[in-house]
Amino acid sequence: MTLAQEGSFLSKPDHVVIIGAGIVGAASAFHCLEAGLKVTLIEPETPGASQASSYGNAGWLSSHSVLPPASPGIWKQVPSWLADPLGPLSVRWRYFPRALPWLIRYLNAAWTYPKIERTAHALRSLLAGAPALHQHMAQQAGVGELIERKGLLHAFLSREHFLLDAKAWEIRRKEGVSWQELDAAALADLEPDLDPKYTFGVFVAETGSCRNPGAYTAALIRYAQTRGATLLHARATGFRIENGSLKAVLIEGGEVLCDKAVIAVGARSKAFATMAGDNVSLETERGYHAVVAGVEAGPRLPTMFADCKVIVTQMNQGLRVAGQVEIAEADDTPNWRRAEILRDHLLALYPALPRNLAPEQIQIWMGRRPSTPDGLPCLGLASGCKDIIHAYGHGHVGLVGSARTGRIVAQLAAGHPPEIDLSPFSPTRFN
Ligand SMILES: Cc1cc2nc3c(=O)[nH]c(=O)nc-3n(C[C@H](O)[C@H](O)[C@H](O)COP(=O)(O)OP(=O)(O)OC[C@H]3O[C@@H](n4cnc5c(N)ncnc54)[C@H](O)[C@@H]3O)c2cc1C
Repeated sequence: MTLAQEGSFLSKPDHVVIIGAGIVGAASAFHCLEAGLKVTLIEPETPGASQASSYGNAGWLSSHSVLPPASPGIWKQVPSWLADPLGPLSVRWRYFPRALPWLIRYLNAAWTYPKIERTAHALRSLLAGAPALHQHMAQQAGVGELIERKGLLHAFLSREHFLLDAKAWEIRRKEGVSWQELDAAALADLEPDLDPKYTFGVFVAETGSCRNPGAYTAALIRYAQTRGATLLHARATGFRIENGSLKAVLIEGGEVLCDKAVIAVGARSKAFATMAGDNVSLETERGYHAVVAGVEAGPRLPTMFADCKVIVTQMNQGLRVAGQVEIAEADDTPNWRRAEILRDHLLALYPALPRNLAPEQIQIWMGRRPSTPDGLPCLGLASGCKDIIHAYGHGHVGLVGSARTGRIVAQLAAGHPPEIDLSPFSPTRFN
């Protein structure tokens, strides 16, 4: 054995502190432990509980969700975003001036199809194969039954409505996504409870879903603990960086010494990014869900509705309808009318659902998507300190995108080359 080998054999593994125990922090911990690193997670709340976006999402493991949220020509809708506070996308008036720089970038990022194609190509590199990656993690953590790989369904009022979005599907095809088109009879056969006004469907077989994203996150954290990770119930406040090297992550009332740190606090990441030397563009796209428990009717497959922009998924807790985009201060009061609108959509979509739901059958929630204007997360080393790793900003695809994100975080933390090109995800791209 050479001295160098002996040294590396005897040296202690690097200590990585992961800030935030949502699904991105959880997947990062999973893969850092696989890479032989020492892991501490810092999280002030219960992992996977309702403060996290990872708790209440629609559970889609949609490896084909490669388009940014905006599209060319969407700027024409800006007045309605402000005028209709209950529309599928709205911006709160008093927050508009603060959101404006982000909104301009949001529109610009999807101004032309070539721009959208570049985003789709990058997102596909992050999302491809995600259902299998999640299945592996869930099985290791003892909750394999939470991940289903039955595919996902898009329901349209008609084939003509599907064709309105033909360009987007063409971009998906270029990225290797394939799908099966269903006429009215095939759709009714597949989804007998669905309102028959939906006469066209698109089934994407490569995808999957999660039956309880909050429980999945919590299980990954518990599994990390059984493999030696420490979960510290604390709120991180910043970094101690000396001569460009990270010494510690600061927490309220103290600090945690470490070699590497990962910023994975979702919608709360901007302040940490700034402290790490990068001025990123990150907003909170707030979303809502309603869960109806104890009902028999509903979809066989998790289903997205293009016309009312909602997703309906059978969860372990009941039938979840999720959606809405509300650009507002992260901690502003929720507008629960939005969750009621989601519930009303659900009842209309599946006429066999009972109308006389008891209040205790319905649970509502508001969550915060951590969203960049171009729909790509920030993933890579910080400019101000190469020991800090950005891993946030997954917007609408944080659940599906977390699996490969975790692998990449571990590769960066271990000093290995990342498995995909990270230049489109650079946290410096907003400079
Ligand atoms: C309605 C809705 C539907 C969605 N549907 C889907 C879907 O079907 N598929 C999909 O892929 N994505 C979906 N998403 C998006 C997805 O939920 C998010 O992108 C993802 O959960 C983000 O995960 P995260 O770990 O980055 O953040 P979070 O889950 O928000 O976790 C961040 C964690 O950081 C902690 N934290 C905050 N501040 C600190 C601090 N100072 N110190 C330490 N810890 C801190 C928080 O307590 C929290 O636990 C949906 C989102 C919404 C709102």
